[in-house]
Amino acid sequence: MSKPTNKNVTIHIKRLMHNIEQLGKIGLNKDGGIDRVLCSDTDLEARNWISRYWEQVFLKKTRVDPIANLWMDLEGDRNLPAIVMGSHHDAVPCGGRFDGALGVLMATEIVETLKDRRIRLRHPLSLVSFTGEEPNPFNISTVGSKVIAGRLTKEDLHKYSHRETKELLGDAIKRMGGNLDLAENALINKKNVAAFLECHIEQGDKLDKSGLAIATVTKITGIYREKITVSGEANHAGTTMMNSRKDAYLAACEYSLAIEKAVKNLNSDEATATVGFVKVEPNEANIISGKTTLIMDMRISDKVRKAGILHKLDREAAIIEGQRKVTIQREVILDQECIPMSDTVINAFDHGAVCIGEPAAHLVSMAGHDAANISMITRTGMIFVKSVNGKSHCKEELSYPEDIEKAANAMLQALLYLDKELDGNDII
Ligand SMILES: [Zn+2]
Repeated sequence: MSKPTNKNVTIHIKRLMHNIEQLGKIGLNKDGGIDRVLCSDTDLEARNWISRYWEQVFLKKTRVDPIANLWMDLEGDRNLPAIVMGSHHDAVPCGGRFDGALGVLMATEIVETLKDRRIRLRHPLSLVSFTGEEPNPFNISTVGSKVIAGRLTKEDLHKYSHRETKELLGDAIKRMGGNLDLAENALINKKNVAAFLECHIEQGDKLDKSGLAIATVTKITGIYREKITVSGEANHAGTTMMNSRKDAYLAACEYSLAIEKAVKNLNSDEATATVGFVKVEPNEANIISGKTTLIMDMRISDKVRKAGILHKLDREAAIIEGQRKVTIQREVILDQECIPMSDTVINAFDHGAVCIGEPAAHLVSMAGHDAANISMITRTGMIFVKSVNGKSHCKEELSYPEDIEKAANAMLQALLYLDKELDGNDII
């Protein structure tokens, strides 16, 4: 019998789906969604499940770093920097079974497959499950990856507390097995990591609409947020005639529609704008609004187009101010540039897709991910799996086993390719 080449190595989809099902039981609520927010009891339960699984399979202790990220570090044949794979295990309230969990369990399945086949790579491999990727009651998302990338210090971290229970983040992280006083020790030394690979559900409907199972992510969108305060004049709803009003709410509506129009006119698949926060004051049936506050979230990667939209909105704001006799104040509250993924990892994922007979499709991620932070320290890339009907952050979230299998096998081939291509000395 001839020895199988690495190209014949494939993952065990039944085992992977079984693990997704098992982890998906942790935090399952009566409505069928998953409740597993940062530092909740179910977060801890999920951590214990992952640690135990890793320890059983790899016969090594799970490492918990100071921000409570979980790590399984496995040696390679040579003294090279590690290739890291993983994602996160927390979920939004009433979230789905695949967001995050799929990435952790797929990375696990790939390494387990290599172990089953007794294939030892040149590079050491590390599995990671990040702490608190999703928005949470501590008001800090992607916290685990931010800390290891050096984007948050111990001092920053000590400022956060749970908005309801008031528990300090430091105490909560301690319950998860971390220790914020040692946060600096969680920092990753760039020299020790060769690449980071993450699989995630797309969370949009582009793959579903195009009939594709998987795509390589080329960049993570830029995110720009503005807080808009419209000030008019509160007054009586009956005695103030229509022509003498300074209605802050209606001016805010007009401005919101101007935002929508400006972005729609781009006719781009890589730009969105949302006004999802509205605060009307005094918010009474018989009073014209004197003040209305909005938050605009714009996702766009192209800087020139972004500047064009903001310029258009300057003009629109001035027109609305004049016509409706209000003032519009705009404050930038977030301006995160788009994060390109590493060409080396993009090539590896493309290679992986072609190896399994899939087209090398490309997508821009319109959601933020841990990978955005990790890209500050190493070559980073992502592969997306089709989300059925583009649904995520809800109980209907679904990806089919056949698509998950393709993503896992493409990622396995990408890993084998990188193991061969990277020698640890090339420039990131
Ligand atoms: Zn996620």
